[in-house]
Amino acid sequence: MRNQGIGSWPARRGRRTPRRTALLHEGRSFDYAALHERSTRLAHALRGAGVGRGDRVAFLGPNHPAHLETLFASGILGAVFVPLNNRLTVAELAFQLADSGSRVLVHARQPDGKAAELASAAGPLTLLSVEGEGPGQGYEELLAASSTEEIDEEVGHDDACLIMYTSGTTGRAKGAVLTHGNIVWNSLNVVVDTDVAGDEVALVSAPLFHTGSLNMSCLPTLLKGGTVLLESAFEAERALRLIELHGVTALFGVPTMYDAMASAPGWKEADLTSLRLLLCGGAPVPTRTARTFLERGLAFVQGYGMTEASPGALVLDRGDSARKAGSAGVPHFFTDVRVIRPDGTETAPGEKGEVVVAGPNVTPGYWNLPEATAAAFRDGGRFRSGDVATVDAEGYVTLVDRLKDMIISGGENIYPAEVEDALLRHPDVAEAAVIGVPDARWGEVGRAVVVLRPGTAPTAEELLGHLEGLLARYKLPRSFVLVPELPRNATGKLLKGPIRDRYGSTPAPT
Ligand code: AMP
Repeated sequence: MRNQGIGSWPARRGRRTPRRTALLHEGRSFDYAALHERSTRLAHALRGAGVGRGDRVAFLGPNHPAHLETLFASGILGAVFVPLNNRLTVAELAFQLADSGSRVLVHARQPDGKAAELASAAGPLTLLSVEGEGPGQGYEELLAASSTEEIDEEVGHDDACLIMYTSGTTGRAKGAVLTHGNIVWNSLNVVVDTDVAGDEVALVSAPLFHTGSLNMSCLPTLLKGGTVLLESAFEAERALRLIELHGVTALFGVPTMYDAMASAPGWKEADLTSLRLLLCGGAPVPTRTARTFLERGLAFVQGYGMTEASPGALVLDRGDSARKAGSAGVPHFFTDVRVIRPDGTETAPGEKGEVVVAGPNVTPGYWNLPEATAAAFRDGGRFRSGDVATVDAEGYVTLVDRLKDMIISGGENIYPAEVEDALLRHPDVAEAAVIGVPDARWGEVGRAVVVLRPGTAPTAEELLGHLEGLLARYKLPRSFVLVPELPRNATGKLLKGPIRDRYGSTPAPT
């Protein structure tokens, strides 16, 4: 085929494994021949709406087969797919639609009026309504009326495939441009390093607009001809039942999803023996989370990456899951990851430094933001992650924290993630965030904002006593604030900005 991009995957798979199940969603099943046919029909329909090479096509909705069909159909035409975060406000979405210059918006299951509001806020947009429930042409009708004739455009690895807006915990969203080559190489990394097999059954319930769900789980499974069990949303108890029911072999999730599964009522009784790999990443992975799954004999491994690396940078081999629990592993096969000092030299074993990433899966830059792109790369084209890590003598990397979250107290660096991890080892602590607050003597000191498990009431002294056994004195929070819940973004990351705004300026309670 002339198309070397991911738009060619349904056709290639459709020929090789036409009758294998590609997608299962809410009782509907699509084999690879069907995925090929539907993506081709949609490509014709998009072409009819004026979409050509380089044009942007957006999708908004909970996880749905139409999300993947729109991705593949865009890839067939050499158009660029823009997945939108379903939890954003109209204003935030309108910004991303306008910024990307999207021509078409495919939308599914939106609250009344939202799609119409978007269309008027974001400029000229053609709307397609997946279940015919909102404004725009009905998606299924359009597919039924479109041709199935094969389209084979010349699409290369350097052509843009996706614009993914980084979930970011602060600042304006930036669109990371990911090329077809980026996605192909990331998928190959995942296939090689996590042994994705043709009989894989991957439960995909994290949102597809997040790079981890789409690129660490869904696309590598489809590349190998496995089955994606697509859930509209994650629900812990249901996930446990689906694993049993479908013999799920692979799971990708952010730490909060794994924690929810381990505290669901059905956790103890659930038969999880079909699972070959539980991949966890997207946010700092508490040691406690890893242990809970390892104790059941499950291959729970940490991965680390970022939208800009499509996203895989580091991964722990399942053979190392127990021996190296807590580490995010080693660089993916085709990717170069280093931990460096501010002068660019590599750190010694155990020394903290910034993670930088290079390789064929790393973005060429942000959409229409040359300055942000230039600032994101160091000399030699290494992407600056802003994450702090250490490397051990065997080359295994452990994430420490975000550079920006670091607290400097009396000249000592405190990494909040380390203190949060220690707090989470206390049985009464459900969630914890550590922030820096101004202090006349030390410049800044740590404050712990904590959610307790229901029915528990440890005192601040008890929590402090627990931490004293685990951390150096200078790292201990000087105050504790108990709260009912902590704000997190769609991918489970603590929203440190709002937590700082809310709990960082009040007089120190203890
Ligand atoms: P995103 O682009 O939304 O996927 O966010 C990328 C960021 O998530 C990274 O720069 C890290 O700060 C964080 N992250 C991802 N995986 C891990 C991990 N295993 N441990 C700690 N932080 C992680």
